[in-house]
Amino acid sequence: MVVANRLLWLVQQLLPPLLLSYFYAAWRIVALEVGPILISQEYDHPILGHIYSTLSSILLGTITIHYLRLYFLPSSQSVPPHDPPPSISTHLTIYECLSPSDAKTIRLNNGESIEGVEDIPLVDRCWKGKCGGRWKPARTRHCSQCGLCRGGFDHHCPFFANCLTAAYIPTFLHLLLYAPPTIFFVSLPLYKPIYHRAIAAYVLSRSSESIRTYWWDWKPSWVVAGGPVGRYVGGLILGWRELDRSAGKNGAGLDRLGVGLMLAFGVILALITTGLAVSTISVLLEGHLTIDRGRHTAHSRTITAIQDLARSGQSIPKKLEDDLLRFSDRTYFFVPFEIPDPLSNAKTHGEVDESHHNDPEEGSRSRPGRKGVIVPALPEERPYDHGRKKNWEIVMGQGWSWLLPWKGLSHAMGEEIFNWPISESVEKRLRAEAERRRDGLIDT
Ligand SMILES: [Zn+2]
Ligand SMILES: [Zn+2]
Repeated sequence: MVVANRLLWLVQQLLPPLLLSYFYAAWRIVALEVGPILISQEYDHPILGHIYSTLSSILLGTITIHYLRLYFLPSSQSVPPHDPPPSISTHLTIYECLSPSDAKTIRLNNGESIEGVEDIPLVDRCWKGKCGGRWKPARTRHCSQCGLCRGGFDHHCPFFANCLTAAYIPTFLHLLLYAPPTIFFVSLPLYKPIYHRAIAAYVLSRSSESIRTYWWDWKPSWVVAGGPVGRYVGGLILGWRELDRSAGKNGAGLDRLGVGLMLAFGVILALITTGLAVSTISVLLEGHLTIDRGRHTAHSRTITAIQDLARSGQSIPKKLEDDLLRFSDRTYFFVPFEIPDPLSNAKTHGEVDESHHNDPEEGSRSRPGRKGVIVPALPEERPYDHGRKKNWEIVMGQGWSWLLPWKGLSHAMGEEIFNWPISESVEKRLRAEAERRRDGLIDT
């Protein structure tokens, strides 16, 4: 685990400078060679050459800016405040809290009394890394790479060595969605010459006496190249290098090996970004964040495994039971009671206020605020799933304007990232349940 973390750390230090160097090298080839030399001179289309160079620079510049935005996000990005805001600390609003049994354990550990505090909620806090007891609101996760909690945590991305949170999903999606068309457009004039050169390189590699001896007939090449595909790539590269060498200093043009490798890497990058864009969008529409979907899948898989074992009458291993608890997304909410309409209340305003502030339980524990109860979400309930349209709008904003390039630099989500909106239907159910419990309490 420690070794894996160190390795990931190292990869993260190397990846961003490598990617930025790649963007820069690609821009140099495109703007200084493909546009002015290949299109303007060789194909004799000077205007087209200018348009190509300018458009390519704008497109490459746009994805570089989005990339830098994510790379240089401050370490404090999306970190919840140390303590919850007054609306939560004084229980004025509905919010996710610890389960009564977790709260009881914490109170007992702190040597506090557990008498009559069942319905006074505790917020979750994080004691890992640099958090030091920081408030951990709903949908917040502790990133072990950054050593900090982040609200709306999606995943820690090694490509830009930073956390991706809901607040910056618009920036991330812009990067992912702009990258493939950019790569396709800037590479367009290069596909044909590179393709022909690759064929020629392969033919030369197969016919060259020396390459045959020290590559194709050399048995360890299967191992060194990591399999048959790698062996062909290796042979191709050797042939290509030979071609470039024989062309002399001025001969190797835009179909040289370096450009071929950059093009190949570009295609791989376009495939990766397309895949990531599809998965990010589908996760978002489902009302999940990447980390939730992983946990949700693991949870469903554990339940199925337990059901299968139970059906065939076998005993359930401890590991599966532990997993069930570990991946459970059962949540609890503090639901404040609705304040009765003062006009319909027999008491005067003053008395109502007094009864709030002089509450023996709350006052003595300096937890003033409204009363309510702790209600668990039902196992099948997904409190943060509002339906596809609203799930999308909460993170990306309304309409299609999010597609505009500069929109990727701002974000739609503000402070609500620390008290994620609860779906209307679940909130209604929670409030109805709270009222039922209150009325039940009054009856007895
Ligand atoms: Zn933390
Ligand atoms: Zn992180």
